[in-house]
Amino acid sequence: MAAERLVVIGGDAAGMSAASQARRLKGPDALEIVAFERGHFTSYSACGIPYWVGGDVEARDDLIARTPEEHRERDIDLRMRTEVTELDVAGQRVKALDRESGETYWTGFDKLVIATGARPVRPALPGMDAAGVHGVQTLDDGQALLDSLDALRSEGPRRAVVVGAGYIGVEMAEAMLKRGFEVTVLNRGEQPMATLDADMGRLVHEAMDGLGITTVNGAAVTKILTGPDGRVTEVATDARTYPADVVVLGIGVEPETGLARDAGLPVGPHGGLLTDLAMRVVGHDNIWAGGDCVEVLDLVAGRTRHIALGTHANKHGQVIGSNIGGGYGTFPGVVGTAVSKVCDLEIARTGLREKDARAVGLRYVTATIESTGRAGYYPGAKPMTVKMIAELRTGRLLGVQIVGRDGAAKRVDVAAVALTAGMTVEQMTALDLGYAPPFSPVWDPVLVAARKTVAAVRGAGS
Ligand SMILES: Cc1cc2nc3c(=O)[nH]c(=O)nc-3n(C[C@H](O)[C@H](O)[C@H](O)COP(=O)(O)OP(=O)(O)OC[C@H]3O[C@@H](n4cnc5c(N)ncnc54)[C@H](O)[C@@H]3O)c2cc1C
Repeated sequence: MAAERLVVIGGDAAGMSAASQARRLKGPDALEIVAFERGHFTSYSACGIPYWVGGDVEARDDLIARTPEEHRERDIDLRMRTEVTELDVAGQRVKALDRESGETYWTGFDKLVIATGARPVRPALPGMDAAGVHGVQTLDDGQALLDSLDALRSEGPRRAVVVGAGYIGVEMAEAMLKRGFEVTVLNRGEQPMATLDADMGRLVHEAMDGLGITTVNGAAVTKILTGPDGRVTEVATDARTYPADVVVLGIGVEPETGLARDAGLPVGPHGGLLTDLAMRVVGHDNIWAGGDCVEVLDLVAGRTRHIALGTHANKHGQVIGSNIGGGYGTFPGVVGTAVSKVCDLEIARTGLREKDARAVGLRYVTATIESTGRAGYYPGAKPMTVKMIAELRTGRLLGVQIVGRDGAAKRVDVAAVALTAGMTVEQMTALDLGYAPPFSPVWDPVLVAARKTVAAVRGAGS
């Protein structure tokens, strides 16, 4: 028998990264690992679902990094289709429900990892559960959507309505376009991509128009209408209805923390579990949490946020597994970097938007520049817009947003590093970034933006 038992709740990015890292550091004699996953899959990339649905990725299984069998070969006792329904913190045990057999049982733990992820927001509107209305949170969701598309008539126009214009919404708009649908995106906000300022979101909107995707801003869905067969036919907003053969929901997610809340564990203002730097749940030395179910410290704003991204979930898992396995790791926080695309338009952001800066009492200047991803004379040079936000007086970088083509997205990583290092925009102007005509103009767009922002900081005085 192992010296101690680790129980993991949730078998995807954060949970199985934690389990795998702990196993790398501690053999089965020292640590028994029992992991519970209520779904059909483990260690899969939800991030790849839009590209699988759109046809860029051929098969569902291409998105699976590690199967349950592969985890079991590494001495992880992974129990699939088994949901943890109760957590007894004082008694150090969890109650599990085997969804296949209906059997319930308690399992004790010495150490616990909560990696229950996030659940999609589903407003309680009429028709939300109708046939032809699909989320894209899990591989099962992706498969159901593909099956639903296959079942549609092939003649005549096929119309898809995507509800939500965040990154999942715009990625799914692209996927449906590639599937040959006429696509309408219904966006409650002022512009698509609310993670950008509205002036940059407008560029995304214009580009989507150019791609043939209709985006309707300020459109709050009120109901989903169905035909006699119970399948979706239209989506209604306050203003009008939109014909739909299929509806894809990308309205956002909330941390899945019901279990942890019921057990009395601490959650923050955004509903995510609160952890320390080692990813231990605050006040509980033997319980860790990571991934979409936790809040993370925003290093620029100085307060916690809920950001559901796989990049964080994997890092959290690595840190948790290291600490449980007897090593050492911390997750200091994030600067809020995210990238996505709609067809060839790349969208990137890091740090604070203007409203984020205002919300935490920072005064700032902004500068926006137009440039290209390659030397202007080099074939294929395409436009790119960079918006930079810096603190008034100090010139400290606060945020960057980039919308453009041809290498726009990953340019934001330079800004993410500058934010992490606490650089000023003046310091950024001297960054030794690579240059050759196929990759960048002599002055990289990020440097051009930094120079203009320096001028704005100086112009604004103190
Ligand atoms: C369409 C889409 C595109 C995305 N694209 C990107 C991207 O480009 N870049 C990026 O960084 N991120 C992206 N993400 C986000 C990323 O997939 C998530 O942040 C990541 O999966 C979070 O991992 P997690 O382990 O915290 O949670 P999840 O992946 O949600 O895993 C949690 C698991 O816990 C299980 N579970 C929950 N409660 C219980 C319970 N009580 N008992 C047993 N099991 C339980 C769930 O079934 C689930 O499998 C995307 C997400 C989606 C849906």
